Amino acid sequence: MNKHRLAIVVPCYKEELVLHETTSRLTQVLDDLVRDDLIATNSYILYVNDGSTDNTWNIISELHEANKYVNGVNLAGNVGHQNALVAGLSSAVENCDMAISIDADLQDDVNAIREMVVKYYEGCDIVYGVRQSRQTDTWFKRTTALGFYSLMKSMGVKSVYNHADYRLMSQRALRQLLRYRERNLFLRGMVPTIGYKTDCVYYDRAERFAGESKYPLKKMISFAFDGITSFSVKPVHMVLYFGIVFLIVSFSIFCFVMYSLFRGNAVPGWTSLMLSVWFCSGCILLGLGVVGEYVGKIYVEVKDRPRFNIERVLMHEE
Ligand code: UDP
Ligand code: MG
Repeated sequence: MNKHRLAIVVPCYKEELVLHETTSRLTQVLDDLVRDDLIATNSYILYVNDGSTDNTWNIISELHEANKYVNGVNLAGNVGHQNALVAGLSSAVENCDMAISIDADLQDDVNAIREMVVKYYEGCDIVYGVRQSRQTDTWFKRTTALGFYSLMKSMGVKSVYNHADYRLMSQRALRQLLRYRERNLFLRGMVPTIGYKTDCVYYDRAERFAGESKYPLKKMISFAFDGITSFSVKPVHMVLYFGIVFLIVSFSIFCFVMYSLFRGNAVPGWTSLMLSVWFCSGCILLGLGVVGEYVGKIYVEVKDRPRFNIERVLMHEE
Protein backbone atom coordinates (compact mmCIF):
# COMPACT_ATOMS: atom_id res chain seq x y z
CA MET A 1 0.00 0.00 0.00
CA ASN A 2 1.17 3.46 -0.82
CA LYS A 3 1.50 5.23 2.51
CA HIS A 4 0.08 8.69 2.83
CA ARG A 5 1.65 11.76 4.32
CA LEU A 6 0.14 13.10 7.53
CA ALA A 7 0.44 16.65 8.83
CA ILE A 8 -0.54 17.43 12.41
CA VAL A 9 -1.40 21.12 12.63
CA VAL A 10 -1.13 22.68 16.08
CA PRO A 11 -2.03 26.33 16.73
CA CYS A 12 -0.04 27.74 19.65
CA TYR A 13 -0.61 30.90 21.59
CA LYS A 14 1.70 31.39 24.58
CA GLU A 15 2.23 27.68 24.95
CA GLU A 16 5.88 27.65 26.10
CA LEU A 17 4.99 25.44 29.06
CA VAL A 18 3.47 22.65 27.01
CA LEU A 19 5.44 22.49 23.75
CA HIS A 20 8.17 20.07 24.85
CA GLU A 21 5.70 17.58 26.26
CA THR A 22 3.38 17.95 23.26
CA THR A 23 6.26 17.33 20.90
CA SER A 24 7.44 14.21 22.68
CA ARG A 25 3.94 12.72 22.75
CA LEU A 26 3.21 13.52 19.11
CA THR A 27 6.63 12.21 18.09
CA GLN A 28 5.82 8.96 19.84
CA VAL A 29 2.53 8.70 17.95
CA LEU A 30 4.16 9.47 14.59
CA ASP A 31 6.98 7.00 15.26
CA ASP A 32 4.46 4.27 16.00
CA LEU A 33 2.40 5.03 12.91
CA VAL A 34 5.48 5.06 10.68
CA ARG A 35 6.68 1.80 12.22
CA ASP A 36 3.31 0.18 11.59
CA ASP A 37 3.42 1.36 8.01
CA LEU A 38 0.32 3.53 8.33
CA ILE A 39 1.80 6.86 7.29
CA ALA A 40 4.68 8.08 5.15
CA THR A 41 8.03 8.72 6.81
CA ASN A 42 7.95 12.38 5.81
CA SER A 43 4.82 13.03 7.88
CA TYR A 44 5.23 15.99 10.19
CA ILE A 45 3.98 18.25 12.97
CA LEU A 46 3.26 21.85 11.98
CA TYR A 47 3.25 24.30 14.86
CA VAL A 48 1.57 27.62 14.08
CA ASN A 49 2.74 30.35 16.40
CA ASP A 50 -0.18 32.73 16.70
CA GLY A 51 1.75 35.88 17.56
CA SER A 52 2.74 34.73 21.05
CA THR A 53 4.59 37.27 23.14
CA ASP A 54 6.44 34.64 25.14
CA ASN A 55 9.10 32.13 24.16
CA THR A 56 6.84 29.96 22.01
CA TRP A 57 8.51 30.67 18.67
CA ASN A 58 12.03 30.19 20.02
CA ILE A 59 11.03 26.84 21.39
CA ILE A 60 9.44 25.85 18.07
CA SER A 61 12.66 26.82 16.24
CA GLU A 62 14.75 24.76 18.66
CA LEU A 63 12.43 21.79 18.30
CA HIS A 64 12.65 22.12 14.51
CA GLU A 65 16.44 21.82 14.74
CA ALA A 66 16.32 18.84 17.06
CA ASN A 67 13.37 16.82 15.78
CA LYS A 68 12.91 15.65 12.20
CA TYR A 69 9.11 15.78 12.48
CA VAL A 70 8.78 19.35 13.71
CA ASN A 71 8.01 22.21 11.34
CA GLY A 72 6.74 25.66 12.20
CA VAL A 73 4.88 28.65 10.84
CA ASN A 74 5.22 31.99 12.57
CA LEU A 75 2.33 34.41 12.19
CA ALA A 76 3.16 38.10 12.32
CA GLY A 77 0.56 38.83 14.98
CA ASN A 78 -2.19 37.24 17.03
CA VAL A 79 -5.14 36.37 14.81
CA GLY A 80 -7.00 33.96 17.08
CA HIS A 81 -7.31 30.20 17.20
CA GLN A 82 -9.55 29.71 14.13
CA ASN A 83 -7.50 31.93 11.84
CA ALA A 84 -4.25 30.42 13.08
CA LEU A 85 -5.66 26.99 12.30
CA VAL A 86 -6.59 28.01 8.77
CA ALA A 87 -3.13 29.52 8.31
CA GLY A 88 -1.60 26.19 9.30
CA LEU A 89 -3.95 24.14 7.14
CA SER A 90 -3.32 26.28 4.10
CA SER A 91 0.43 25.91 4.56
CA ALA A 92 0.01 22.16 4.91
CA VAL A 93 -2.56 21.45 2.21
CA GLU A 94 -0.16 21.01 -0.69
CA ASN A 95 2.33 19.09 1.43
CA CYS A 96 0.18 16.35 2.87
CA ASP A 97 -2.49 13.80 2.00
CA MET A 98 -4.32 14.27 5.27
CA ALA A 99 -4.09 16.79 8.09
CA ILE A 100 -5.14 16.52 11.71
CA SER A 101 -5.74 19.65 13.75
CA ILE A 102 -5.22 19.45 17.48
CA ASP A 103 -4.73 21.92 20.35
CA ALA A 104 -1.29 22.37 21.80
CA ASP A 105 -2.37 21.60 25.35
CA LEU A 106 -3.08 17.91 24.67
CA GLN A 107 -6.54 18.01 26.21
CA ASP A 108 -7.51 15.90 23.26
CA ASP A 109 -6.22 12.35 23.43
CA VAL A 110 -3.38 11.85 20.95
CA ASN A 111 -4.12 8.14 20.83
CA ALA A 112 -7.22 8.89 18.77
CA ILE A 113 -4.91 9.92 15.92
CA ARG A 114 -4.27 6.30 14.97
CA GLU A 115 -8.00 5.57 14.81
CA MET A 116 -8.52 8.65 12.65
CA VAL A 117 -5.83 7.53 10.23
CA VAL A 118 -7.35 4.06 10.03
CA LYS A 119 -10.73 5.57 9.19
CA TYR A 120 -9.05 7.72 6.57
CA TYR A 121 -7.79 4.61 4.80
CA GLU A 122 -11.28 3.18 5.05
CA GLY A 123 -12.38 6.00 2.81
CA CYS A 124 -13.41 8.81 5.16
CA ASP A 125 -12.49 12.31 4.09
CA ILE A 126 -13.36 13.88 7.43
CA VAL A 127 -13.02 12.21 10.82
CA TYR A 128 -14.30 14.12 13.85
CA GLY A 129 -12.80 13.68 17.28
CA VAL A 130 -15.70 13.63 19.71
CA ARG A 131 -15.36 13.98 23.47
CA GLN A 132 -16.97 11.12 25.25
CA SER A 133 -16.99 12.67 28.70
CA ARG A 134 -16.07 16.08 29.96
CA GLN A 135 -15.51 15.04 33.57
CA THR A 136 -12.29 17.02 33.72
CA ASP A 137 -13.89 20.25 32.56
CA THR A 138 -15.47 22.43 35.21
CA TRP A 139 -19.21 22.20 35.78
CA PHE A 140 -19.50 25.70 34.39
CA LYS A 141 -17.69 24.89 31.15
CA ARG A 142 -19.74 21.74 30.68
CA THR A 143 -23.11 23.42 31.13
CA THR A 144 -22.26 26.42 29.00
CA ALA A 145 -20.98 24.12 26.28
CA LEU A 146 -24.15 22.04 26.40
CA GLY A 147 -26.32 25.17 26.23
CA PHE A 148 -24.26 26.34 23.32
CA TYR A 149 -24.73 23.17 21.29
CA SER A 150 -28.48 23.19 21.87
CA LEU A 151 -28.72 26.84 20.91
CA MET A 152 -26.76 26.21 17.72
CA LYS A 153 -29.01 23.32 16.87
CA SER A 154 -32.16 25.36 17.40
CA MET A 155 -30.70 28.01 15.12
CA GLY A 156 -30.27 25.41 12.42
CA VAL A 157 -26.46 25.28 12.39
CA LYS A 158 -25.18 21.86 11.47
CA SER A 159 -22.45 20.89 13.91
CA VAL A 160 -21.18 17.71 15.51
CA TYR A 161 -22.12 17.44 19.17
CA ASN A 162 -19.13 17.63 21.53
CA HIS A 163 -16.67 18.01 18.72
CA ALA A 164 -14.24 20.92 18.85
CA ASP A 165 -11.42 21.38 16.40
CA TYR A 166 -9.77 17.99 16.75
CA ARG A 167 -10.31 16.36 13.39
CA LEU A 168 -8.72 14.71 10.40
CA MET A 169 -9.32 16.04 6.92
CA SER A 170 -8.15 14.61 3.63
CA GLN A 171 -6.39 16.83 1.14
CA ARG A 172 -9.45 17.24 -1.06
CA ALA A 173 -11.64 18.13 1.94
CA LEU A 174 -9.05 20.71 2.96
CA ARG A 175 -8.97 22.20 -0.51
CA GLN A 176 -12.71 22.57 -0.38
CA LEU A 177 -12.62 24.13 3.09
CA LEU A 178 -10.07 26.67 1.91
CA ARG A 179 -12.50 27.77 -0.78
CA TYR A 180 -14.76 29.19 1.91
CA ARG A 181 -14.07 32.86 1.74
CA GLU A 182 -15.65 34.25 4.89
CA ARG A 183 -13.71 36.19 7.49
CA ASN A 184 -15.79 35.19 10.54
CA LEU A 185 -14.54 31.68 10.95
CA PHE A 186 -16.43 29.01 12.78
CA LEU A 187 -14.71 25.93 11.47
CA ARG A 188 -16.73 23.32 13.33
CA GLY A 189 -19.82 24.65 11.61
CA MET A 190 -18.19 25.01 8.19
CA VAL A 191 -16.62 21.57 7.94
CA PRO A 192 -19.93 19.63 8.09
CA THR A 193 -21.16 21.58 5.06
CA ILE A 194 -18.34 20.19 2.90
CA GLY A 195 -19.91 16.78 2.49
CA TYR A 196 -17.93 13.58 1.71
CA LYS A 197 -17.89 10.46 3.82
CA THR A 198 -17.34 11.28 7.49
CA ASP A 199 -17.03 9.41 10.73
CA CYS A 200 -16.29 10.03 14.41
CA VAL A 201 -13.78 8.68 16.86
CA TYR A 202 -14.45 8.99 20.59
CA TYR A 203 -12.06 9.88 23.37
CA ASP A 204 -12.01 11.26 26.88
CA ARG A 205 -10.96 14.82 27.27
CA ALA A 206 -8.12 15.36 29.71
CA GLU A 207 -7.17 18.39 31.70
CA ARG A 208 -4.80 20.97 30.27
CA PHE A 209 -1.50 19.75 31.66
CA ALA A 210 0.23 23.12 31.96
CA GLY A 211 -0.53 26.78 31.45
CA GLU A 212 -4.01 28.18 31.46
CA SER A 213 -6.90 28.36 29.02
CA LYS A 214 -6.61 30.98 26.29
CA TYR A 215 -10.38 30.93 25.95
CA PRO A 216 -11.74 32.95 28.86
CA LEU A 217 -15.51 33.39 29.17
CA LYS A 218 -15.48 36.62 27.19
CA LYS A 219 -13.83 34.97 24.19
CA MET A 220 -16.14 31.96 24.50
CA ILE A 221 -19.23 34.13 24.35
CA SER A 222 -18.00 36.07 21.36
CA PHE A 223 -17.07 32.77 19.66
CA ALA A 224 -20.56 31.42 20.29
CA PHE A 225 -22.07 34.62 18.98
CA ASP A 226 -19.89 34.40 15.88
CA GLY A 227 -20.95 30.81 15.42
CA ILE A 228 -24.61 31.71 15.31
CA THR A 229 -24.42 34.91 13.35
CA SER A 230 -22.02 33.41 10.80
CA PHE A 231 -24.33 30.56 10.01
CA SER A 232 -27.86 31.52 10.61
CA VAL A 233 -30.20 34.25 9.52
CA LYS A 234 -32.80 32.90 11.93
CA PRO A 235 -32.47 35.86 14.33
CA VAL A 236 -33.58 38.05 11.41
CA HIS A 237 -36.49 35.74 10.59
CA MET A 238 -37.54 36.02 14.23
CA VAL A 239 -38.02 39.78 13.90
CA LEU A 240 -40.35 39.16 10.99
CA TYR A 241 -42.32 36.56 12.97
CA PHE A 242 -42.62 38.97 15.89
CA GLY A 243 -44.01 41.60 13.55
CA ILE A 244 -46.65 39.19 12.30
CA VAL A 245 -47.52 38.10 15.85
CA PHE A 246 -47.85 41.73 16.92
CA LEU A 247 -50.23 42.45 14.06
CA ILE A 248 -52.36 39.46 14.99
CA VAL A 249 -52.40 40.61 18.62
CA SER A 250 -53.35 44.10 17.49
CA PHE A 251 -56.37 42.63 15.72
CA SER A 252 -57.56 40.94 18.94
CA ILE A 253 -56.90 44.18 20.82
CA PHE A 254 -59.03 45.92 18.19
CA CYS A 255 -61.95 43.61 18.94
CA PHE A 256 -61.44 44.01 22.69
CA VAL A 257 -61.25 47.81 22.75
CA MET A 258 -64.20 48.16 20.39
CA TYR A 259 -66.22 45.91 22.65
CA SER A 260 -65.19 48.02 25.69
CA LEU A 261 -65.98 51.23 23.80
CA PHE A 262 -69.51 50.18 22.97
CA ARG A 263 -70.10 48.76 26.46
CA GLY A 264 -69.19 52.27 27.62
CA ASN A 265 -66.53 51.24 30.14
CA ALA A 266 -63.53 52.65 28.26
CA VAL A 267 -61.72 55.78 29.47
CA PRO A 268 -61.74 58.46 26.68
CA GLY A 269 -58.57 58.20 24.58
CA TRP A 270 -57.70 54.69 25.77
CA THR A 271 -59.14 52.95 22.71
CA SER A 272 -57.10 54.82 20.14
CA LEU A 273 -53.98 54.68 22.30
CA MET A 274 -54.18 50.93 22.82
CA LEU A 275 -54.81 50.33 19.17
CA SER A 276 -52.04 52.52 17.86
CA VAL A 277 -49.45 51.10 20.29
CA TRP A 278 -49.99 47.55 19.09
CA PHE A 279 -50.64 48.29 15.47
CA CYS A 280 -47.69 50.63 15.05
CA SER A 281 -45.25 48.31 16.86
CA GLY A 282 -46.45 45.52 14.62
CA CYS A 283 -45.86 47.59 11.51
CA ILE A 284 -42.40 48.70 12.68
CA LEU A 285 -41.31 45.14 13.45
CA LEU A 286 -42.66 43.90 10.16
CA GLY A 287 -40.77 46.62 8.31
CA LEU A 288 -37.60 45.83 10.21
CA GLY A 289 -38.06 42.16 9.46
CA VAL A 290 -38.44 42.80 5.75
CA VAL A 291 -35.29 44.93 5.69
CA GLY A 292 -33.60 42.21 7.73
CA GLU A 293 -34.51 39.57 5.16
CA TYR A 294 -32.71 41.56 2.49
CA VAL A 295 -29.72 42.17 4.75
CA GLY A 296 -29.66 38.43 5.47
CA LYS A 297 -29.66 37.64 1.74
CA ILE A 298 -26.88 40.13 1.10
CA TYR A 299 -24.95 38.57 3.96
CA VAL A 300 -25.22 35.13 2.46
CA GLU A 301 -24.15 36.43 -0.96
CA VAL A 302 -21.22 38.38 0.42
CA LYS A 303 -19.84 35.26 2.09
CA ASP A 304 -19.44 33.89 -1.40
CA ARG A 305 -19.25 30.30 -0.23
CA PRO A 306 -18.87 27.54 -2.78
CA ARG A 307 -22.33 26.33 -3.75
CA PHE A 308 -21.40 22.70 -4.26
CA ASN A 309 -18.61 20.23 -3.96
CA ILE A 310 -18.30 17.65 -6.72
CA GLU A 311 -17.12 14.39 -5.26
CA ARG A 312 -16.46 12.42 -8.40
CA VAL A 313 -17.16 12.67 -12.11
CA LEU A 314 -17.76 9.65 -14.29
CA MET A 315 -17.07 10.35 -17.92
CA HIS A 316 -15.96 8.25 -20.87
CA GLU A 317 -12.87 9.30 -22.73
CA GLU A 318 -13.54 10.88 -26.12
N1 UDP B 1 -4.91 29.53 20.58
C1 UDP B 1 -4.40 30.27 19.51
N2 UDP B 1 -4.67 31.62 19.44
C2 UDP B 1 -5.43 32.27 20.40
C3 UDP B 1 -5.96 31.50 21.46
C4 UDP B 1 -5.68 30.13 21.52
O1 UDP B 1 -3.74 29.73 18.63
O2 UDP B 1 -5.61 33.47 20.28
C5 UDP B 1 -4.63 28.07 20.65
C6 UDP B 1 -4.03 27.58 21.94
O3 UDP B 1 -2.62 27.72 21.93
C7 UDP B 1 -4.47 26.14 21.97
C8 UDP B 1 -5.81 26.17 21.28
O4 UDP B 1 -5.86 27.40 20.55
O5 UDP B 1 -3.59 25.31 21.23
C9 UDP B 1 -6.98 26.07 22.24
O6 UDP B 1 -6.86 27.00 23.27
P1 UDP B 1 -7.13 26.63 24.80
O7 UDP B 1 -6.61 25.27 25.10
O8 UDP B 1 -6.58 27.74 25.64
O9 UDP B 1 -8.73 26.64 24.85
P2 UDP B 1 -9.69 25.68 25.73
O10 UDP B 1 -9.22 24.29 25.52
O11 UDP B 1 -9.51 26.13 27.13
O12 UDP B 1 -11.05 25.94 25.19
MG1 MG C 1 -7.42 23.59 25.83
